[in-house]
Amino acid sequence: MPFPDFTPTDRIGNMRCGWDSTTSELCNAPATWHIAWNPTNPLKLSLLCDPHMNAVNHHYTYADRHPATIACDMPGTGWLTTVTPSRCIPADTTDLGSAGQLRAAAVLLRNPVRRPELASVVDLPFIEPLADWLESTAAQLDAITHPLWQAMAAAQPLAVARQILGKDTS
Ligand SMILES: [Zn+2]
Ligand SMILES: [Zn+2]
Repeated sequence: MPFPDFTPTDRIGNMRCGWDSTTSELCNAPATWHIAWNPTNPLKLSLLCDPHMNAVNHHYTYADRHPATIACDMPGTGWLTTVTPSRCIPADTTDLGSAGQLRAAAVLLRNPVRRPELASVVDLPFIEPLADWLESTAAQLDAITHPLWQAMAAAQPLAVARQILGKDTS
């Protein structure tokens, strides 16, 4: 089964179409669809805008798709196939390190798509100041705290970040 060419971009919660071809530049339009060419190993996923989703429908075969959400473009997320439609969830953000988890939580907080979901965790007026606090704590950790000590130095912000990322604090 042929796969089109895609340019991988850094996963930073900024969903962009990765369509690429020998005749055009990287599309980079806001992505609306997340497709899995192969949802199991080797995992092969692409973010697509509407026009390129149509192009894929005409020319290629993919295994699964769902509307793109912020989680689709976050590091450490996994394709969840046990629900219909499938969706991407934060699978494991512990490999991001402490500062990385704080930043990931801030990115999720600032994303309006996630707000209804997060309303059970954070009241709306607290979202921006909370995201600011998580980011400044992350910057401070990177600047002055050895990675091995970050989890201990930032235990409380990390507990908050894990709630936002949808993980239990055990
Ligand atoms: Zn596109
Ligand atoms: Zn996804």
